[in-house]
Amino acid sequence: MVFYCEQCGECCSIMGEVLSVFEEYGDYRFLLVNKYTGEKTRVEVDLDKRALFMEEDALPAACPFLRHRDHVGYCTVHLTRPEMCRDFGCWRLLILDHSGKRAGRVMQARFFSPESPALALLWEERIRTLDEREDEDWDREVIAILSCEGYSVIR
Ligand code: SF4
Ligand code: SF4
Repeated sequence: MVFYCEQCGECCSIMGEVLSVFEEYGDYRFLLVNKYTGEKTRVEVDLDKRALFMEEDALPAACPFLRHRDHVGYCTVHLTRPEMCRDFGCWRLLILDHSGKRAGRVMQARFFSPESPALALLWEERIRTLDEREDEDWDREVIAILSCEGYSVIR
């Protein structure tokens, strides 16, 4: 399955370190600059997110276009967001609990980010100790263990 974003807003909440507004054109249009690469992108606040954009977001290190509503993160320039944001995927394996809620993620090769104490414990006891097998075999074993314990894994 292809990557899909759960809109937790986590990744964008530190992107103020990277992306900043270089120029403001008015009428919800901006020039955004990547402070590290110098790459500039013209962005425009999406029509359906303009009211949301006008609300202050409390995260000081966040991208200037991130806003939250009901604990969901929104990129208010989603339609015109920079290439880097389009390419970004924060997980390789997504682990969902029995209710379909995100319980953890595997990023890059084997970096594990838990979001539930039960899964963190399971990982420590059964998965972290797996030997250094090939990536495909490791994935298969991890998915088998998690499935046995009632988790679903999306890759
Ligand atoms: S890419 Fe990942 S971290 Fe970023 S908002 Fe989506 S789910 Fe959250
Ligand atoms: S432009 Fe949108 S996707 Fe990119 S960092 Fe900002 S809020 Fe996130």
